[in-house]
Amino acid sequence: MMDASELAALRAALVMRLEALRTTSETTVDNRRPVELDQTSVGRLSRMDAMQVQAMALATERRRHDEARRVGAAICRIDEGEYGYCVSCDEEISAKRLGVDPVIPTCIRCASGGGG
Ligand SMILES: [Zn+2]
Repeated sequence: MMDASELAALRAALVMRLEALRTTSETTVDNRRPVELDQTSVGRLSRMDAMQVQAMALATERRRHDEARRVGAAICRIDEGEYGYCVSCDEEISAKRLGVDPVIPTCIRCASGGGG
């Protein structure tokens, strides 16, 4: 397991990651606005382009939301002293696995659907 200072450093890094995700969300809000239907300002082809850009922006935002949720949950687990333990079976998650993704909530067994 990590010691208190390692956990504090990780928590600080996660808070920064969460802030960055929120900032990106705010600065890209224009990309996700519904595409203008006004044909005089945007031609038919460029309107399709704009809709494609918007669809991609929405998909990216969904992923961003999902990541923000996982980062937030990891911060909660640190605060509750449960960080590093599988949320599903309470087994310790391997340091190697947490090194790959520090916000991962489950052990390899639960993640691969092996159950308890
Ligand atoms: Zn597990």
